[in-house]
Amino acid sequence: MSFFGFKGGVHPKENKTQTKDEKTVVMKTPSMVYIPLVQQNPGIPVKPIVKVGDKVLKGQKIGDSDAFMTTPVHSSVSGTVKKIEDRAYPIMGAIVSTICIENDGEDTWAELTKLDDWEKASKEELLAIIREKGIVGIGGATFPTHVKLNPPKDAKIDTLLLNGAECEPYLNSDNRLMLDDPQSIIEGIKIIKKILGITNAIVGIEENKPRAIENMQKAAAGTGIEIAPLKVKYPQGGEKQLIKSVLNRVVPSGKLPSAVGAVVQNTGTAAAIYQAVVNGIPLIERVVTVSGKAVKKPKNVRVAVGTLFSEILNFCEVDRENIYKLILGGPMMGMAQYSEETPVIKGTSGLLALTKEETNAYETRNCISCGKCIGVCPMGLLPLNFVQMVIKGKFQELGPANILDCMECGSCAFVCPANRPLVESIKLGKLKLRELMVKK
Ligand code: SF4
Ligand code: SF4
Repeated sequence: MSFFGFKGGVHPKENKTQTKDEKTVVMKTPSMVYIPLVQQNPGIPVKPIVKVGDKVLKGQKIGDSDAFMTTPVHSSVSGTVKKIEDRAYPIMGAIVSTICIENDGEDTWAELTKLDDWEKASKEELLAIIREKGIVGIGGATFPTHVKLNPPKDAKIDTLLLNGAECEPYLNSDNRLMLDDPQSIIEGIKIIKKILGITNAIVGIEENKPRAIENMQKAAAGTGIEIAPLKVKYPQGGEKQLIKSVLNRVVPSGKLPSAVGAVVQNTGTAAAIYQAVVNGIPLIERVVTVSGKAVKKPKNVRVAVGTLFSEILNFCEVDRENIYKLILGGPMMGMAQYSEETPVIKGTSGLLALTKEETNAYETRNCISCGKCIGVCPMGLLPLNFVQMVIKGKFQELGPANILDCMECGSCAFVCPANRPLVESIKLGKLKLRELMVKK
């Protein structure tokens, strides 16, 4: 298969060896789980459908909403609802309403509706199951999958791209899934193809995962699903970069992948779709890579959604005194955490306990106008200009400068010799621009 590549990008130290050969281990469910009532990001809440004192079963729906772009949340244990209270959420330091459930240790499942003959189901039936089981993109963005798999009617979708690039340093959760359970991914891809009514499906995997490539090739044999080895370059797993690399198509500014006939899904999401449709299992657990030099036993851990970071750090024997930065996700796009008492959510791909020597703890200096940030931007943007506009409060100019095309990949900040907080400025600029757009 041809590889077309994309402009820009960077080559951060991979740091994947610590966990790439660590088989996924299942962590015992904790005595309490904390399930936030948001499925995507702060601002799109669902309502609790249980109350304090209720007994709940594992996999039981406990929160939902009629609002567009929402998906329900489910209990990851059987037990009793002890509290519904505002608690720390791992994204943007938000506080959100959270259902706190005491685990009875019985692991009693709610009744699961299985669909062995999914080939006979309609697109609408399959999408309804995917929504009902709370499936979202588990690569990090947590976009509702039933919305993504239902592109506009005028979009002519011809290709499904599966993102197995996992280009973020340290992370191996997708890699391990491709090694440990490739069949679930392949079966999930077949279901997605049926929903989209297409035959083309390509799984992009970076070449630094040769065993995953081989494993997926074996699992895909005879299905028509192609496996595309990709050059190692960050952010290869960005939707627009993956589409350019594999299909040589450019998604126009402000448009979605459907504008060029593509739908992109994470490999882990495909496996979650299979579990939801065929086995009736909602998205209540996921694989998290726990790594960084402060971790004595780096691992890939299958954990229940709602497990506190502190429980996972204990399980992996993390030396708290050595933690300089605790990051949710990878070091490029992840978010620093101020508390360990924050739960794993559906999009938690990694938990990094980094020491000072692993972090870029240099002082910020004045911009020297070297232009490096512009050269590496995979979206062809001018991050330096965004920062100037934000500093000067010229937020209305950020729209025409296409700041909303920024995927916050962090490549610009990674190469900046002055250690400018570029992504933080860009995030603030996007927030201010969106506020202006709402006021109009
Ligand atoms: S401007 Fe945005 S898309 Fe471009 S390198 Fe910086 S973070 Fe990435
Ligand atoms: S890379 Fe840093 S120092 Fe160079 S132009 Fe961009 S912001 Fe300025």
